[in-house]
Amino acid sequence: MSATKHNWTKEEILEIYNTPLMELLYDAATIHRKHHDPNTVQVSTLLSIKTGGCPEDCGYCPQAARYHTDVEGNDLMSVQQVKAQALRAKSSGSSRVCMGAAWRNVKDGEEFDQVLEMVRTINKLDMEVCCTLGMITENQAQRLAEAGLYAYNHNLDSSEEYYKEVISTRGYEDRLETIDNVRKTNVTVCSGGIIGMGEKTEDRAGMLVALSTLNPQPESVPINALVAVEGTPLEDQKPVSIWDMVRMVATTRIVMPETQVRLSAGRTEMTREGQAMCFFAGANSIFAGDKLLTTPNPDVNEDMEMFKLLGLNPQKPFIKKMQPETVEAQNSQYQALGEKPKWTRPEHTIERNEEAKQKAKALK
Ligand code: SF4
Repeated sequence: MSATKHNWTKEEILEIYNTPLMELLYDAATIHRKHHDPNTVQVSTLLSIKTGGCPEDCGYCPQAARYHTDVEGNDLMSVQQVKAQALRAKSSGSSRVCMGAAWRNVKDGEEFDQVLEMVRTINKLDMEVCCTLGMITENQAQRLAEAGLYAYNHNLDSSEEYYKEVISTRGYEDRLETIDNVRKTNVTVCSGGIIGMGEKTEDRAGMLVALSTLNPQPESVPINALVAVEGTPLEDQKPVSIWDMVRMVATTRIVMPETQVRLSAGRTEMTREGQAMCFFAGANSIFAGDKLLTTPNPDVNEDMEMFKLLGLNPQKPFIKKMQPETVEAQNSQYQALGEKPKWTRPEHTIERNEEAKQKAKALK
């Protein structure tokens, strides 16, 4: 039976987050060693398979159609393009490919069928496949599972309270429902958030409460530092300090000991020393490639140099869970249902999101 604690409170998590740093690092590193090889870090490649034009209003995101950013929209990539990129990623040490599409939710039809084919193709390359496609129903999650999906990413972003300050076009409960739909399958859950959006420390703790009290806890938790992109409502946010990042990583490691903690967006702002501290504090995955969906990321060669310097080894795929079997489309036991679920549209107004929208309209 797992001894993982599932009833963390905000107060307990805040106390951990605010522990004197040396003690916090020691505690996190001790827990990390008990559950993971401290010299192994997974390299994942994030691929934007459909970029821009998203109808949502996430205040941090340059892919939202309503903001005026430099992001160029792209239609869904072909299966062949995705396969070529996955092979390139594999040859440079990645064991996982995460495919992101800027959709509010998945719609049954040709495009989803194409994504299912991408999942089958990458799984057959013996790489872990993760998708982040927005909200999905249980049937869609089952279809992804059958295609060989290893993980589904759906971030909670922040605490429930602060979420309402960043996104107005869908609710926190929708996020939790999608996570729940994924949980009903054998696909693992990847869910984390972003720090540096103007939230309080309490919100960071609140997000960790929401994640750590899920039972089972997510197998993967990405911790992102906001990359403030011009044209988005959060363009003026100051970069998050490395000390906050280290505290957040260490706290995540302590409250979710078995989880793969992913050092995600914002690594270009971090020194190698800073990243090394995050690995020591329990981060055991990075995203490789010069772009993270649409924002800059360190070059893969730089990362490999850093691995050499720190004596880190890239993690092999399927260490935590067996490779899923791929069921071909014609043998599938799940069919497209064409469901139209009632995801909420809270439609409350966030002033800075509205301002950014008006500014973008004026620039057109
Ligand atoms: S974060 Fe995702 S859902 Fe939100 S605007 Fe960007 S692409 Fe759309």
